[in-house]
Amino acid sequence: MKEYDYQIEPKCVKFKQPALTAEGFFLPCCWCDRRNSYFQQKGFLAEELNINNVTDLVTEVFHSKPWLDFFLTAQYNPQDLPSVCKEHCGANKETKKRTNYESI
Ligand code: SF4
Repeated sequence: MKEYDYQIEPKCVKFKQPALTAEGFFLPCCWCDRRNSYFQQKGFLAEELNINNVTDLVTEVFHSKPWLDFFLTAQYNPQDLPSVCKEHCGANKETKKRTNYESI
């Protein structure tokens, strides 16, 4: 089986801002909103992270396990990010091409 050369440069690690959905949940960036099954599975849409249920965004949301895990993945194992990340932050032709065949 061929090993694919995923090269991703996550913009959210350097400069891209988090996004707030219409339902009141934060996601790592606005591109994530349309494919939130990955983010739902990873816990980003847990009720305790909803903007209506927090008083301190930094400690309660951005330092929560889903967020810390996501940014550890983004920095050290970006090949494990969802296809939306490969599509928007893929740094090579093969990474972007492979997103056409993935469902997550
Ligand atoms: S698409 Fe993914 S990797 Fe790129 S900025 Fe958004 S969350 Fe980060």
